[in-house]
Amino acid sequence: MPTSTMTLRTWSRAVRWTPQQVLRPTSQDSVVAAIAVARARACSLRVIGGGHSFSALAATDGITLSLDGYQGLVAADPSTGLVTLRGGTRLWAVAELLAPYGLALSVMGDIDRQSIAGAIQTGTHGTGARFTGFAGMVRALRLVLPDGSVVDTSLDRDPALFEAARLGLGAIGVILEVTLQCIPAYRLELVESTEPIEATTRSFLTISDTTDHHEFFWFPRTDRATVRTMHRVPAATPRERPARAIELFQQELLGNGAWELLCRSAAAIPSLSRPAAEIASHVFAGPRIVDDSAAVYVAPRRVRFHESEWALPAERFEDAFAALQQRFEEESVRVTFPLEVRRAAADHVWLSTAFGRDTVYIAAHRYHAEEAGPYLLLVQRTLADFGARPHWGKQHWLGARELSRLYPRFEDFQAVRRAVDPASLLMTPYLRHLLEDQPGS
Ligand SMILES: Cc1cc2nc3c(=O)[nH]c(=O)nc-3n(C[C@H](O)[C@H](O)[C@H](O)COP(=O)(O)OP(=O)(O)OC[C@H]3O[C@@H](n4cnc5c(N)ncnc54)[C@H](O)[C@@H]3O)c2cc1C
Repeated sequence: MPTSTMTLRTWSRAVRWTPQQVLRPTSQDSVVAAIAVARARACSLRVIGGGHSFSALAATDGITLSLDGYQGLVAADPSTGLVTLRGGTRLWAVAELLAPYGLALSVMGDIDRQSIAGAIQTGTHGTGARFTGFAGMVRALRLVLPDGSVVDTSLDRDPALFEAARLGLGAIGVILEVTLQCIPAYRLELVESTEPIEATTRSFLTISDTTDHHEFFWFPRTDRATVRTMHRVPAATPRERPARAIELFQQELLGNGAWELLCRSAAAIPSLSRPAAEIASHVFAGPRIVDDSAAVYVAPRRVRFHESEWALPAERFEDAFAALQQRFEEESVRVTFPLEVRRAAADHVWLSTAFGRDTVYIAAHRYHAEEAGPYLLLVQRTLADFGARPHWGKQHWLGARELSRLYPRFEDFQAVRRAVDPASLLMTPYLRHLLEDQPGS
């Protein structure tokens, strides 16, 4: 059995693992062969995409499968907007691949470093009351099941497999191809401003009802928010960006360089956290921009952090946010990173954080060199009273017992998973904790 001395780690550096072997297939047949190797060795196999999940989803002491060599466009149809991408395709490549067809993704998150398969497997989303996350855009999948068979699935072809596999935590099969519903290319006008936090939370649902993409950042215990609003404008709208020097200053120095320095200082001297948050809350808002959608949604994130994110029924958002504000004061929390608040449409993807409910997301971050656990747990415990569901790709401390109550189709997902993977080839201790361990139940 080949042994590996290669230690892999996630983007945040919080999860590290040394697999027996890393395989990098470049064709459908070599993915099938990789699965046969794992079966013959009776070891677990986990796919890694961009490694941008904060949780231990991709970690294994068996075989790590990277689809970095299996990227690219398979097909695009401008008349239907249907686009098929290979599973390893990174999001940053998608805009360029779709441009010749006049198409674009209907929404994106904060960054574009993820693979398309990794993004759908954890329920990655952006913001916008009319838009689902990536898994909700999926119309068909081609995957290799743990028995080595290659299957095509969609709502019309084995719908149970489709619903489980399109947000499957990498536990249903290896996604070879993803067919997405895309839309005609568009530009976005981004406006950012600094606003009082109370007014921002009160108006969040109404503004996000009528605005294409609305979100805000709040530095805990400050009294102001950075509000980001994006309106869709036609693709022919002239591009407007600040001069390159101003943009570099804003993005690289204020957004990344000076920010790293502030966070590092506050990590060394915790009493600096509050002044750091105060300073950041005043300067976080950037200039107005009009550009292609993909260039506006995403921004570089060079300062590493830990993150949890919780999906709440939209109608409970205001109470939940007020509860967090109160807890942060009671506990005198000192954090430099903001909360981020976004919204997404309800969908019907079985393990989606937005399954069956109009959803508001609250994400909590902590600088990577600081201990994240106590703060993120405080957020988890506070939001538990509001029916909060954890983002699968981010940190949380819930197991199968709690998760099965939060996801109405949890048992249906498990039934599909057990049927396609009776030997638990795609399982690891972390996946068992999420899906199977039910202590006390
Ligand atoms: C800086 C930063 C910003 C982020 N911003 C957002 C955001 O705006 N919105 C949001 O919702 N999330 C966000 N995330 C979280 C991120 O989008 C998810 O964790 C996503 O899953 C990462 O994609 P990846 O390709 O890196 O997947 P990985 O983390 O490598 O893998 C995630 C899961 O997908 C599985 N997987 C990957 N490829 C395949 C495949 N081909 N077949 C089967 N399973 C597969 C893996 O086994 C694993 O279970 C952010 C993360 C970071 C670090």
